[in-house]
Parts: sequence; structure tokens; C-alpha cells
Amino acid sequence: MAANKKEIVVLGAGVIGLQTALTLLENGYGVTIVAKHWPGDDDINYASMKAGAHWRTHAGPEDILGQKFDTETYQYWKGLLDEGVEGTGLEILPDIPTSETTNNGAAIWWSTVVGNYRVMDPAELPTGAHFGVIYESFCINPSKYCDFLLGRLGDLGIKTITTEVDSLEEVFELPGIEDDDNVVGMVNCIGLAAKELAHDERVFPTRGQTILVKGEAEMARLRRGDGWICYVIRRPGQGTILGGSYQEDDWNADLDETLSTRIQERCAALAPELLVDGKFDIISQQVGRRPSRRGGPRIEVKWTKHNGSERLICHHYGHSGAGCVINLQNEEIEKDLMISRYQNSYGSAKEAVRLINQSLKR
Ligand SMILES: Cc1cc2nc3c(=O)[nH]c(=O)nc-3n(C[C@H](O)[C@H](O)[C@H](O)COP(=O)(O)OP(=O)(O)OC[C@H]3O[C@@H](n4cnc5c(N)ncnc54)[C@H](O)[C@@H]3O)c2cc1C
Repeated sequence: MAANKKEIVVLGAGVIGLQTALTLLENGYGVTIVAKHWPGDDDINYASMKAGAHWRTHAGPEDILGQKFDTETYQYWKGLLDEGVEGTGLEILPDIPTSETTNNGAAIWWSTVVGNYRVMDPAELPTGAHFGVIYESFCINPSKYCDFLLGRLGDLGIKTITTEVDSLEEVFELPGIEDDDNVVGMVNCIGLAAKELAHDERVFPTRGQTILVKGEAEMARLRRGDGWICYVIRRPGQGTILGGSYQEDDWNADLDETLSTRIQERCAALAPELLVDGKFDIISQQVGRRPSRRGGPRIEVKWTKHNGSERLICHHYGHSGAGCVINLQNEEIEKDLMISRYQNSYGSAKEAVRLINQSLKR
């Protein structure tokens, strides 16, 4: 490792760990990522490979930080596509969220962030919907996007260690890290595992069951009813994801067949262009656990003493929640469960690195 260059270890290689590592490298740090799972791996607890995924803000009107993170990530992705960067796994296309309840009349804060936003004419609304909008959003192929981040990290000289640690402190004892006096700290991006390793009782899983089907939906569509939602999200290069479920504190790893049937029935009205003889052509079905946290994501710096040296630990996890899936009413939805994920990864990584710079007086 280069002399005098401050080194930071990132624990976790989900979208949050990868983006944080990239932002650290771009800020002049040397970075090593330590992780058990990497892009392409399949594990129910590795949320980044289980996502839809999609940009759809959940930030309410009072959630200024959440709005900032989502806006910055939207603009970052737009910039990548405008520059013609290839291999991102991102695609921009129309998104139509509709709701069976009406808008409360408040302005929707993100209408000025996204491209080509407009409120739908009542005549355009599907049967049963009372409110809907159209705007340009991003559909993401999660595995490809994480591969893209990993590629950028490789170009900037990332170092990697594949292992599972039993405690956060163990990171500082790993070969190659232990003897390096330039290591000033670590960033904890372990998602759901923070429940145990960071002893954080606020962390819980939000179970999500999705179906990958053949064919690419013309656009993303979401329908919100009373106590349920369903959505179709194009997965660039792979097909279309049908969802969804938001089951708080539900650790069930098995596929729920009844739920699967209900998702297909509801999504049939959202993407009729994908039906073959009235049915979807299923590629796979999956269950994932969104790493959720009551009170919102934890982005916070703490100091710890390890073998006589002060070391910084920046917590950066809890990037997902439950609550409602899109804020069409502009209501202050369960702020407690503020949601953030792929769609705010760029903005929240910038915040984590800002806090690290501040703590290290850079
Ligand atoms: C069904 C579903 C649909 C979703 N849809 C969307 C969507 O449309 N839009 C959106 O923005 N988000 C979506 N999400 C949420 C998003 O996937 C997550 O919020 C995000 O991926 C969390 O990333 P992370 O990096 O925090 O955690 P993870 O991806 O879970 O990564 C955790 C990392 O930590 C490592 N790790 C954990 N414990 C240890 C240990 N002890 N030692 C070493 N390494 C360890 C793991 O190996 C892994 O590398 C969805 C999630 C699900 C499940």
C-alpha cells in the first residue's frame, strides 16, 4: 500500500459498499473491500442481487436528506447515460405509478427532479385508479450495475478480500490490514448483518418475493391499492420483474405459492404485452430480504480503540424499508421507515464520505 495514503476498509460488497468504496477512491483514499458475497452471488441475505430494481423515491416532503440522496442518484445515473457510458445495466424509460386513492392536492416534490413528469388525465387512468403520473425513471439490472461499479473500482486500484468476519473489529486483524499503519478506519456496509455485528436492534428484514418473466415490459408500471401494491419493472437484458411484497420482520425463505399467484394476477393488468396465452412465461422466482432499519439508514461515524490505535468506524447500512412504495400523495409516510437503496446509493455514499472527511479533518 502506498506510503502516507490514508487507507479505509469497506466491509460489504452490496450496492452500498461498492458505491461507498468508489466515492472513497475518488476522494483520494486507498480502499480494500472485505466481503463474503460479491456481485453474481446468490444468497437470500445479499439484498443487492435480489432487487427489482428501480428508481422510485420514498422520501416525504419533510425528509430533506432523503430527497437529496435520491435526487443526486437520479442525476448521477442520468449523467452516466447522457455521457453514453456502456455496461451500466441502467435504462431510462417511462414509469406510470397509479393509485386507487386520490392525491391530497399537495405538490409532489420530485416532479421537478425527474424528466417529463406529468399528472395523468382521468381518461387515461386504468380502471379503478383515481390518480396517476407519468415520468422518466430508471430500471436497473442489479447484477450488471454492481458489476459496472466493480469494474470502475478495478480501474481505480481497489483491493479485495473475500471472507466472513464475526465482528467489526476482526476487519482490523485481517492479513494485509493488521500491519498497515495507514489504515485509519472502516465503513460498515453489511446490510442486514448489522443486526448482529453492530448489535442494532432497529435492523429487521422486509421480505420481498418477485418473479422474473420473459420479455421486456414497454414501461415500468405500479399500482397501489389499499394495503397492497404490485409492479412491473423491466430488467434490462434479462426480462421483466413482477412484484411485489413488503413483509416486515418476515424471515420466511420459502416461496409463497399463493402470493406468487396473486402477484401474477395483479401484474397481468399492468403488462398485458408480456402475456402468452394469458400467462406469463416464468424464468425464475426469488425471495429476498431488504435490510431495513427503524429510524432510517444509519450513516454515522464512531471512534474505537484497536490495539492502542484510534480507528474510525463509519456505519452505512439500513438501506431499505417498508412503508408505502411510492409517495404519490406527498404524505409524510412512516418516517420511521425511511427508505433508501439503489435509488439513493450515490447520494448516501457521498454523505458517508463527507462525514469521514470531516472526522479525519480532510
Ligand atoms: C425484492 C427486493 C426488491 C427491491 N427493489 C428495489 C428497487 O426497486 N429499488 C431500489 O433502489 N432498491 C430495491 N431493493 C433494495 C435494495 O436491494 C437494498 O436496499 C440494497 O441492495 C442494500 O444494499 P446493501 O449494500 O446495504 O446490502 P447487501 O446487498 O445485502 O450487501 C451486504 C454485503 O455485506 C456482506 N456481509 C454481510 N455480513 C458479512 C460478514 N459477516 N462478513 C463479510 N461480509 C459480510 C455481504 O456478503 C454483502 O457483500 C429491493 C430489495 C429486494 C429484496
